[in-house]
Amino acid sequence: MTPEQLRQLDKQHFWHPFTQMEAWSAADHDPLIIASGNGATLTDIDGNCYIDGNSSIWTNIHGHNHPAINAALRDQLELIAHCSALGSSNEPAIRLAAELVKLFPAETLTRVFFSDDGSTAIECACKMALQYQQLTGHPERSRFLAFDQAYHGDTAGAASLGGVATFTQRFRGTGFAVERIESVDQLGSLPDSLVKTLTAVCVEPLIQGAAGMRTWPEDMLTTLNEWCQRKGVLLILDEVMTGFGRTGTMFACEQEGVTPDFIALAKGLTGGYLPLAATLTTDRIYQAFLGRTEERKTFFYGHSYSGNALACAAALANLKIFRDEQTLEDLGPKIERLHGLLEKSFGDHPNIHAVRQCGLIAGIDVVNGDGSPCSPHQDTGHRICQEARSHGLLTRPVRDTLVLLPPLCIDEQQLSQSVNALRKAVDTIFSGG
Ligand SMILES: *Cc1c(COP(=O)(O)O)cnc(C)c1O
Repeated sequence: MTPEQLRQLDKQHFWHPFTQMEAWSAADHDPLIIASGNGATLTDIDGNCYIDGNSSIWTNIHGHNHPAINAALRDQLELIAHCSALGSSNEPAIRLAAELVKLFPAETLTRVFFSDDGSTAIECACKMALQYQQLTGHPERSRFLAFDQAYHGDTAGAASLGGVATFTQRFRGTGFAVERIESVDQLGSLPDSLVKTLTAVCVEPLIQGAAGMRTWPEDMLTTLNEWCQRKGVLLILDEVMTGFGRTGTMFACEQEGVTPDFIALAKGLTGGYLPLAATLTTDRIYQAFLGRTEERKTFFYGHSYSGNALACAAALANLKIFRDEQTLEDLGPKIERLHGLLEKSFGDHPNIHAVRQCGLIAGIDVVNGDGSPCSPHQDTGHRICQEARSHGLLTRPVRDTLVLLPPLCIDEQQLSQSVNALRKAVDTIFSGG
């Protein structure tokens, strides 16, 4: 098919996520259609090459078209792509479960439940938490605590924990019963009568992604964890975005030495190749679900593709690359380099209100030259990212926060090209270009 035919068919039939389709389908809009990828770059059907500045919406880790993940997928494909995890098992899923457990301190998160994406990993953690409380004599613990600006996915339960109005306001009243706070400073003022009804608290450790790469104060997680332990409230960590090296360590929670009752992993789990998620939990939680069939303690939850062999093979290859390529060891210098580049380009710029960095993640807040916030109608963040495309960078903003979240394999020259592209785009947009 020609690029023109592809664009026409896309506009006719493909309803895109989080997208106003009227604008997308407008006659003067040429949808970007990606044809291939290699390392940290993507190439479109017209042959234009870009740096994948947001890791294909926060998923890619070691680059596109990685020979080791490709080979692992081919090998697995010769055997079987998928068989059900209901009533049978498969080697890639078994090995992956064991390897994931080994990434955490011994005897902590020892049980692995597979699902399909970040939303279902969270959904699963919430339902496990609710059922655990019921099974251990606390049916009154039926509410969740979550944070303002949080994002935990789009299925009804996961979305109900979310605190970004755009995603949730139309669906209020569906999902779990949720109490929301802004920060851990408010924990102390929660009435005891409420705390006693809490099942679990859910949080994105170190940094809230969809909030605009909003970083938490130091020790936030430690404080929250201690409060949870004191109050008998379970802790669910959403590492869907932060997992697999993004923040500089394999998992964000390592940086505060916190191990939760549940951790949700997805996006980077397969290196950004295939949808797969895992909810890890402790033996304490797991044991509560054991019993004879008629006791009805079974966790009645799952999906058709749970433990998909192909996706698990990709995830095993992803983890092997971390070891073989010493990905985490190489991250330190890149994180420092990014820091220097951000400082140089945006440290003292009239249109930059703040720059936040957490590992290889950056959020850059843009404002008008007089320091006032940009009007939502101006779509400034979006226009800057569109402009950055002409300088060879693809990324998406969160409102007026520019996001740079590249694959961990990005090299220093590409990092520099990415920050330069954003700097040029900011200058062009604010000079009225
Ligand atoms: C993306 C994301 C999710 C949802 O994951 P999906 O795979 O899109 O369902 C949940 N939590 C966080 C922190 C995320 O970034």
